[in-house]
Amino acid sequence: MDDKSPFLHPQYETLSREEINRLQVERLQATVKHCMNSPFYKKRFEEIGLKPEDIKSLEDLRKMPFTTKQDLRDTYPFGMASVPLRKCVRLHSSSGTTGNPTVILHTQKDIDEWANAVARCLWMVGLRPDDVFQNSSGYGMFTGGLGFQYGAERLGALTVPAAAGNSLRQIKFMKDFGTTAVHAVPSYVTRLYEVMCDNGVDPRRDLKLKVLAIGAEPHSEEQRKRIENMLGVKAYNSFGMSEMCGPGVGFECQEQNGLHFWEDYYIVEIVDPETLEPVPDGQIGELVLTTLNREAMPLLRYRTRDLTRVLGRSCPCGRNHIRLDRMRGRSDDMIVLRGVNIFPIQIEKILMQFKELSSNYLITLTTDDDNDNMTVEVEISEMFTDDYGRLQALTKDITRALKDEILLTPRVKLVPKGSLPVSDGKAVRVVDKRKVYL
Ligand code: ADP
Ligand code: ZN
Repeated sequence: MDDKSPFLHPQYETLSREEINRLQVERLQATVKHCMNSPFYKKRFEEIGLKPEDIKSLEDLRKMPFTTKQDLRDTYPFGMASVPLRKCVRLHSSSGTTGNPTVILHTQKDIDEWANAVARCLWMVGLRPDDVFQNSSGYGMFTGGLGFQYGAERLGALTVPAAAGNSLRQIKFMKDFGTTAVHAVPSYVTRLYEVMCDNGVDPRRDLKLKVLAIGAEPHSEEQRKRIENMLGVKAYNSFGMSEMCGPGVGFECQEQNGLHFWEDYYIVEIVDPETLEPVPDGQIGELVLTTLNREAMPLLRYRTRDLTRVLGRSCPCGRNHIRLDRMRGRSDDMIVLRGVNIFPIQIEKILMQFKELSSNYLITLTTDDDNDNMTVEVEISEMFTDDYGRLQALTKDITRALKDEILLTPRVKLVPKGSLPVSDGKAVRVVDKRKVYL
């Protein structure tokens, strides 16, 4: 490893478009061939009369059927494996934010490649072997724990596997161990900052932080800026999902101009979620990923349900891997209220523009007198709680700004700091209590 190099894997990170395409075709053909060891894919291909030899170019990808989360559930637990179980060394099971569990199997090679991918991301944002990397993710089935752990070790950083929760201990570790980089979900960073303030810790004065990796849940650009201002360091967006190993799939570089998705590991498609046809660059669609180097459980054209768009295929940092916009959220996170489609992140974006508000908010949907309504509760900073006139004016301003964004008028409730639930892991932003009419 050359500490001065901006690239950990220059041979892959600096490939030209032509070289990326060539490598992808090669790896795709090998992957499809390997998938025939999986009873699931063998049957799928036979059903539509497709043979691995029919895949000759990247365009041929479109001949292949999609794989869905439902397929993973239907084959639970091991029906998708492309290797015998004795070759597997680990499984991760997703609780499924939205349903039954799914299982992802890994061989030793898969674990190694995953660590390489995460190490590459961390290197890209400036981490080197003399850094101290603290991970505040839960260790266990949640891939943000072990995924970052192995990646940061692979890079050679001193790792602090602090795991989730216990904010006072997290802050003590940061101070005592000279932590220079932290990985956390964005909602937890704001929580940590509040605890620092309550305990007289000034991150700029008392900590050696250089870099934050924030991800695992949707967040707005406004939220990122807020986090950067709180801690006085750059916060880089990290995207991943258990089906694609975990973290390490897409990561921002120091330009902060979108997520680089590693195309030596994945083929990226953006499709219209209704027609399943590809959408032009710049247009929002569903992210579909094909794995290119997975052994235990390769996935072909996996529908992630995450909505995003292509921003470009080159970057001043020297990497030509595809750049995608931050995720809007998953198609199943979308709120449909009185026929209007709303993503929680749209609401967050507005709330974060009011500096009187803290970062914790909760959207509740209810049915009152046969009408569906949205209530947005958001915490305010202490100094406002006794100025009723100002509170009322602020509530009005927020309501108006939200209406401009989502085209519906929500009820806005300002609540004291600390009164909304906080989670150690991914934040729960929406509670749906609407009546369902059958
Ligand atoms: P679960 O499916 O149980 O939520 P995962 O950890 O696999 O477990 O979650 C992956 C999902 O988390 C992604 O599909 C995406 O919706 C969300 N996600 C992960 N990272 C980000 C990010 N940086 N921005 C927005 N959403 C993200
Ligand atoms: Zn870049």
